[in-house]
Amino acid sequence: MPKKPRRKSDKQDSPLDTAPRRNLGMVTKECLRLSQEMRKGHLLEHALQVVTHAAVKMTRSHQATLRLLDDSGKRLLKSARTGPSVHRRGSSPFGLGEGFIGWVVVHQKPSIINRVKSDPRFVMRAGQKWTPSAIMAVPLMADRHCIGVLSVSRRNNRVFTEQDLDLLQLVAELSSPYLEIARLKQLNESDPLTLLHNRRHLQQRLPQEVKRARRSNKPLSVTMADLDHFKLVNDTHGHDVGDEVLCDLAERLNNACRTSDVITRWGGEEFFIILPDTSVRQATAVSERIRKAVADVPFQTSAGKLWLSISLGVAGLQPDDDDCSLERRADQALYKAKRNGRNLVATNPTEGQGGNI
Ligand code: GH3
Ligand code: MG
Ligand code: MG
Repeated sequence: MPKKPRRKSDKQDSPLDTAPRRNLGMVTKECLRLSQEMRKGHLLEHALQVVTHAAVKMTRSHQATLRLLDDSGKRLLKSARTGPSVHRRGSSPFGLGEGFIGWVVVHQKPSIINRVKSDPRFVMRAGQKWTPSAIMAVPLMADRHCIGVLSVSRRNNRVFTEQDLDLLQLVAELSSPYLEIARLKQLNESDPLTLLHNRRHLQQRLPQEVKRARRSNKPLSVTMADLDHFKLVNDTHGHDVGDEVLCDLAERLNNACRTSDVITRWGGEEFFIILPDTSVRQATAVSERIRKAVADVPFQTSAGKLWLSISLGVAGLQPDDDDCSLERRADQALYKAKRNGRNLVATNPTEGQGGNI
């Protein structure tokens, strides 16, 4: 007998069709795995990833996103996602109270939207890559504060049930205490203005990354960056406008780098970036991308559009390097870029270009 043709609505690419069926055994195992993984005290980035992964599995979703907030509850400290992104890279995050996620932060209530088109809390944005058919989100609570939101989405006309929402809440409840510890540690090692890593974090992290690169025999590069003539911005427009520029720059750095790169505010208008698993040649390309992201697009500030530039110095880990000598060579390269006229990326003549280890 000929095979019955698949109906058009029988979409084959939904993970729901291939995901393991849920039963008590599977849910118990997943909860245990989540708790055990979180207890290991991973870096915040990894901890978030563990949670979004569990959320996708437990709720049989297409995608999960976790957003952690800073202490004001108004700014995004860190986010993670398992599954495809809804928004294009570089689109600015929703502000507090905006969109469905914002609604959950403000109301601190787990919630489901099964009809995105008719629910005013779901905001469609220009350039969205795909539209979920259903979405649900739960607040992550520490004490009585909302420290973030965990959300999941389905597509292909699949809806969520109250049981799905309970399971998402279970993931949130199990992970919140661990996330709060990691969040507070992260805040302690963050720059309050830009929310990038601060120098305290760099001092611990750089030696770790040097060790890791040696152990795995992978390249490691670093970039030191400094805004050109930034004093002029402060002197002409005041410190508040200077601060606006620094926050905008932090966003451009985040967009130009990979999530595995470690972006640090080293001091005033100086930034230090660790690029794991990256050769000098690749790090030079990333630095050039940053240079262009600053020079080609004006900074929109309360004093109007400001055109600025940035100079960058790149260094790669060499066999006789330690973290101090690596940092020093990036600094020397930066000064070479400054001497040669600014708005440049420079390396020292001794840097190898390929696998620099
Ligand atoms: P160059 O091209 O040689 O780097 O010149 P520059 O003017 O950028 O460098 P300089 O070191 O002379 O000045 C850096 C300025 O950065 C001076 C200081 O007022 C400013 N700055 C440092 N931290 C902050 C901050 O947190 N906010 C603001 N608005 N400005 C800051
Ligand atoms: Mg400067
Ligand atoms: Mg400087």
